[in-house]
Amino acid sequence: MFLGGDYMCIFCEIANKKIASNIIYEDDSVFAFLDLSQAGKGHTLVIPKKHYTDLLEIDDADYLHVMEVAKKIASVLKKTFSCEGINILNNCGSAAGQSVFHFHVHVIPRYNNDKVTIIWEDHSDMMQKEELLEIKESILKNI
Ligand code: 5GP
Ligand code: ZN
Repeated sequence: MFLGGDYMCIFCEIANKKIASNIIYEDDSVFAFLDLSQAGKGHTLVIPKKHYTDLLEIDDADYLHVMEVAKKIASVLKKTFSCEGINILNNCGSAAGQSVFHFHVHVIPRYNNDKVTIIWEDHSDMMQKEELLEIKESILKNI
């Protein structure tokens, strides 16, 4: 959305408290709040206050601090809701399911047999050893 030539980012507005949210944590550079759509009770989003579009854009120091806060919130959610598991998840790019283009990490409490689906099928029998080696070699060229 364009407003007067400036891109309006909903998560910048939330971090600046121009839009209300259920705040879980805040410090100088990181903000955490409940996701409007709760995949599991306590589903929290952790964001840098500074705007970065996605994982590939965020500065390392800000990323590490976001992850530190996400870990802390994971243990608080476990204590609060006695959840049986936790997913820490980032969607990078629309192909990966990103819908808000301000970097964020989901902290999602999980329960045995809950209805959350963050799974991929087992394709381990589809790939030959040689193909895996080729894939590895391609990646190593760019490390
Ligand atoms: P993504 O799909 O980009 O990984 O996740 C974006 C998340 O932001 C979604 O889970 C969505 O429910 C949440 N979301 C979108 N708009 C708002 C909002 O205005 N407030 C809150 N609290 N969450 C939002
Ligand atoms: Zn933003």
